[in-house]
Amino acid sequence: MSKVAVIGGGWAGIAAAVALADAGHDIAVFEMAPQLGGRARSVAGQPDYDNGQHILIGAYRDSLALMRRLGVDPEQVLKRLPLALPYPGEPGLRLPPGSPLVAFTRGVLAHRGWPLGARLGLLAAAGGWLARGFRCDAALSVAELCAGLPAAVKRDLVEPLCVAALNTPAPQASARVFLRVLKDALFSGPGSADLLLPRRPLSDLLAGPAAAWLGDRLRLGTRVQAVEPGWRVDGERFDAVVLACTSVETARLTADVAPAWSATAQGLGFEPIVTVYLHSPGSALPSPMLALREGPDAPAQFVFDHGALGGAPGRFAFVVSGAAPWVARGGCAEAVLAQAVRELRWASPPVIDKVLTEKRATFACTPGLVRPPAFIATGLWAAGDYVEGPYPATLEGAVRAGRVAAQGVGAEAGGTGTGAKGAASGSPTNTP
Ligand SMILES: Cc1cc2nc3c(=O)[nH]c(=O)nc-3n(C[C@H](O)[C@H](O)[C@H](O)COP(=O)(O)OP(=O)(O)OC[C@H]3O[C@@H](n4cnc5c(N)ncnc54)[C@H](O)[C@@H]3O)c2cc1C
Repeated sequence: MSKVAVIGGGWAGIAAAVALADAGHDIAVFEMAPQLGGRARSVAGQPDYDNGQHILIGAYRDSLALMRRLGVDPEQVLKRLPLALPYPGEPGLRLPPGSPLVAFTRGVLAHRGWPLGARLGLLAAAGGWLARGFRCDAALSVAELCAGLPAAVKRDLVEPLCVAALNTPAPQASARVFLRVLKDALFSGPGSADLLLPRRPLSDLLAGPAAAWLGDRLRLGTRVQAVEPGWRVDGERFDAVVLACTSVETARLTADVAPAWSATAQGLGFEPIVTVYLHSPGSALPSPMLALREGPDAPAQFVFDHGALGGAPGRFAFVVSGAAPWVARGGCAEAVLAQAVRELRWASPPVIDKVLTEKRATFACTPGLVRPPAFIATGLWAAGDYVEGPYPATLEGAVRAGRVAAQGVGAEAGGTGTGAKGAASGSPTNTP
């Protein structure tokens, strides 16, 4: 048994801590905030507001397994819906139940909102991606990958999916990562493309149960200042350390001990997400989630009806992903309100309830991006949604990274050094 410090208690840190504790290590989790959860948590002091609307998909295998490990039943806390992208007044693309690939083909063919040529064009392109194993040149952007697709398909499917999954607009987003998300949604078995919408506050999904499970191994409200060779965390000796804090903090903590790794982490760019909560008593959307058409005066790409999801009736979360232009320009919440009034029907005039702007919501998932690996130095591992791996910045990417780091520490503790570095490349659970 070794003594391991996990620094950072977001989903990556929780995943690492649980895996390490399960493997019999003596762990301590340092988290600077007063609660666990990182970016995926409820707002402190206002537990029925989330720090941004989150959605999961059926392919998030490791996240769902982690929830179960902590005694959370995903079927209770998440509403499972077959993938559908309805727009106000339009049914949009919807996949029928069954094998995702067959469902995708049937769903596209049945989508009367697109001309037949557009439907066939999308199926032909998807067939090409499938034939190439959903791989492409790392330098390609999503806009370049999809340049030949009909305009309606780009507008109604590619662009909203890209910004939702990668939080990066299609012209700047990595086609390779986009294809990987599509592959996992369409190929990891029945239900993998399903949308899983939180029915409970975010902290009930993982952070709260994790805090109870970790108990006195948690050191909340503790911002780690320094990690020194040895390994010493603010002077306290550990056999190994998992750095599960943000890329910016991890870069700071490794600047002296691993300058090259630190520089790579420091080189990541970020994309903001703005969540605008509107309140309109008595109102309801035709479905729990609607896609919206983004435009120069229409910032939001999606809206969620919290009343339909078991939350506060009359509360609606509008999501503005890839929000850099709106953060720079200002007036995002007012523009969302105007968009909502224009595009949706309300039982009472909606008002702005709360606006949350996460300036560093995710790393910018651009073509050819070099991400730092999980292995930093012997006994020093990184875990976080930004660490090298096939996924964009997502809950699943964070959880997988946490497990990979824990496997690396475990392999080193077992004396299998090469196994440890093997874990750093993402195998076995993170194989592209
Ligand atoms: C508004 C918003 C919407 C999103 N929507 C989705 C979505 O729909 N689906 C999806 O899959 N993903 C979504 N994401 C992304 C998802 O939230 C992240 O990918 C995930 O939460 C990252 O987890 P993490 O553990 O890697 O990092 P973090 O959650 O950032 O955790 C890092 C932790 O380290 C702590 N820390 C930092 N420095 C120190 C230090 N020195 N000492 C101690 N602790 C420290 C921080 O307080 C934090 O708790 C969204 C993100 C945002 C912001």
